[in-house]
Amino acid sequence: MIPYSRQTLSETDVHVVMDALHSDWITQGPWVERFEQKLAEVCGARFAVAVSSGTAALHLACLAAGIGEGDTVVVPTLTFVASANCVLYCGGRPALLDISPDTLNLDVGALQALFRKDKGLKAVIPVHFGGLPCQMQSIVHLARERGVVVIEDACHALGARWNDDSGVWHRVGSCSHSDMACFSFHPVKHITTGEGGAVLTNHEHLYCKLKTLRSHGIVKDPRELKAGSGHWYYEMRMLGFNYRITDFQCALGFSQLNHLSEWVARRRLIAAQYRSAFGDAPWIRCQREPDGFESSYHLMVIQVEKRDAFYKRLREKGFGVQVHYIPVHLQPYYQQQFGWRADDLPRATAYYQKAISLPLFPTLTDEEVGSVIAAVKQTAQELGVG
Ligand SMILES: *Cc1c(COP(=O)(O)O)cnc(C)c1O
Repeated sequence: MIPYSRQTLSETDVHVVMDALHSDWITQGPWVERFEQKLAEVCGARFAVAVSSGTAALHLACLAAGIGEGDTVVVPTLTFVASANCVLYCGGRPALLDISPDTLNLDVGALQALFRKDKGLKAVIPVHFGGLPCQMQSIVHLARERGVVVIEDACHALGARWNDDSGVWHRVGSCSHSDMACFSFHPVKHITTGEGGAVLTNHEHLYCKLKTLRSHGIVKDPRELKAGSGHWYYEMRMLGFNYRITDFQCALGFSQLNHLSEWVARRRLIAAQYRSAFGDAPWIRCQREPDGFESSYHLMVIQVEKRDAFYKRLREKGFGVQVHYIPVHLQPYYQQQFGWRADDLPRATAYYQKAISLPLFPTLTDEEVGSVIAAVKQTAQELGVG
């Protein structure tokens, strides 16, 4: 079975981890800061805080932004549940938003309408679906006018970039148009640390708060404590968590970052092969990548009729296709707690009924891509949709 995604680990990656394990540190050693610095540099942000998962990154970003009891935060419904759950962890309420049917990212028109209707919004969490950057210029413009915090869920988009109105390129993670950006290093993502995540920001006060929240809300640095206290002295200043990542995981992340641009280039090449094979066919729909936007292609999603049968047949043929995602407003928990119904956000619901993710990862060979394309075309004929 060819999976929809898988990690890539080189011998060098393994050696770097072995070296880290042989050092004096297991957790919070020198590799954590090395990884953070390199990640910040690769993305073009001032600061990075590495944590135990992408979900932990989102939770801490929400806390650092001051999201609390009763605050409303806009989240697109087409995403992994963690993008919305992080708001609930803080006592806030996610306001789910529909998507643009072509880019599959949050609908900026709907965001504008929501901003007009609901004056008390606290934050917005744009998700760069499949690796395609959102229209950050428009989003930030709307948010800034109203003092709304912008937290990018960039878990799909390490290595993606976009071009602004004056022709300047912006890397996702640079936070040029947001307060914070969150990444995940789960094995299906662009680089992996096993489990892991990070928050990037250009604001020093957010950076300090994120670091404190990562480790129980405790401050230990003598420079930040009142003079004359003992060497053992520490202060818990806010309610934090243990969201630390280990030193050997960060050694792996550091080594993996060396491959990032090569892997993103390969992902984009594979996506281009899929696109040119399916491009003109009326029975299949691919995510639109507008001019000036370069997706880092975490996912290659297509939309087809008779999705369930399509999915079943591709699996039987040995292709580990997946569905990304069941929209958040269709999840039983969200329906029961907040009364969401399928037709409240009709475009995401319609997308979900047709969506399939095809295999896409850097070590997928051209032959394998060819076999996926052939299987998709053959299945469409078998089912009478192509
Ligand atoms: C993977 C992912 C997360 C969660 O990351 P974990 O590292 O699995 O906790 C959050 N949001 C999106 C969009 C993701 O794809």
